[in-house]
Amino acid sequence: MGGSGAASVIVVGAGVFGLATGLALAEAGLKVRMVAETVPGRTASGVAAGMLAPAFESVLDPPTPQSLDLLRASRDLWLGLAGRLGVALDRSGAAAVGPDAWVQDLQAQLEALGLEVRDAGRAEMQTWTPGLAPQFGRALVTLEDWRIEPQDALAAMAARLRELGGTVEAGALSDRDLADSPGPVVLATGADQRLSALAPELALLSPIKGQILWRADRAPPSRVIRTPGAYLLGSGGGLLAGATMEAGRADLAADLQAQASLRGALAGVIPLLPPEGWETRVGVRAASPDGLPLAGASVRPGVFLAVGARRNGWLLAPLVAEIVTAAVTGEDGGRWARRLDPSRFAPGTGEVQA
Ligand SMILES: Cc1cc2nc3c(=O)[nH]c(=O)nc-3n(C[C@H](O)[C@H](O)[C@H](O)COP(=O)(O)OP(=O)(O)OC[C@H]3O[C@@H](n4cnc5c(N)ncnc54)[C@H](O)[C@@H]3O)c2cc1C
Repeated sequence: MGGSGAASVIVVGAGVFGLATGLALAEAGLKVRMVAETVPGRTASGVAAGMLAPAFESVLDPPTPQSLDLLRASRDLWLGLAGRLGVALDRSGAAAVGPDAWVQDLQAQLEALGLEVRDAGRAEMQTWTPGLAPQFGRALVTLEDWRIEPQDALAAMAARLRELGGTVEAGALSDRDLADSPGPVVLATGADQRLSALAPELALLSPIKGQILWRADRAPPSRVIRTPGAYLLGSGGGLLAGATMEAGRADLAADLQAQASLRGALAGVIPLLPPEGWETRVGVRAASPDGLPLAGASVRPGVFLAVGARRNGWLLAPLVAEIVTAAVTGEDGGRWARRLDPSRFAPGTGEVQA
């Protein structure tokens, strides 16, 4: 596979969308040349928490409640992908901890979506993390939500792509560099819009800056904890707490003022967590008008899109990779391809529903 006689494809971008798509194309037998300005691990994909969370994202992220089946379908694709990559998939689930009324509301919403949840009492909650605020007497646990360690998965995807004959090069490509490309070009360029002259659909994307906090001096919780306005989990041997959603911002500056509500939310769930001593990591998400990715052919012949991951890029990467690979190879993209088709925003086109 990927030998000298194989058809070639250029993938621009080495975040989780670019790498997952490049890998799927290489597995389909194409020779993949990946070019990325920023090395794997240093973009939004590298700062992300790695939650694969169809359940809590369906009720905590406004654009996603109608997308539960799609989110679950992509999560399930991680079973095979993580296995092929040899990276661990944490399937211990996630818990909601917060005021009773908030937990009850989440429970009602999750059950209305047909999702199974169970109650956990105070004794069990204290085994997850020390210092939980005493007023929280019960939590809600779902096994629907999984997690992957982003840095491990990015490194494994890049290594596997190279094993399959693909290349990963550093560099920025312009629309002029790509305009006369003899083979297909896949744009997995995240929130970056410099290639809009090549694929006008990129202009549909808007940035959402995200700041996430990490520290090594506190024991991480043994499972993902969701609380109003924040989440906590273990990553890289430390405690990761996220994340801000700063719509319209694309800068990478650490901004203490914008972190204030996140720090407040953390203090609400673990009061003894010191407000100082956090390392700030920043990434920029790209959001389409309906919150779902643009996956498939651009109006520009020969150009394909794998962008618009919003806050669920890790969760959605395997499904996007499958759909884009089918579009490039001329196969049927499956059940979700129309829902993510970039042409759904073309003038006169009603938004496609599942
Ligand atoms: C704080 C935070 C927490 C998150 N937590 C989660 C989570 O728990 N679960 C989840 O599913 N998602 C999460 N996300 C969202 C997820 O990280 C993103 O949706 C996803 O990483 C986007 O991946 P991407 O490949 O589209 O873009 P990126 O990772 O931004 O990669 C874009 C790539 O394109 C390259 N590029 C752009 N333009 C050019 C050019 N002209 N030439 C060459 N290269 C170019 C860049 O260098 C880079 O390699 C989080 C995001 C943030 C910010």
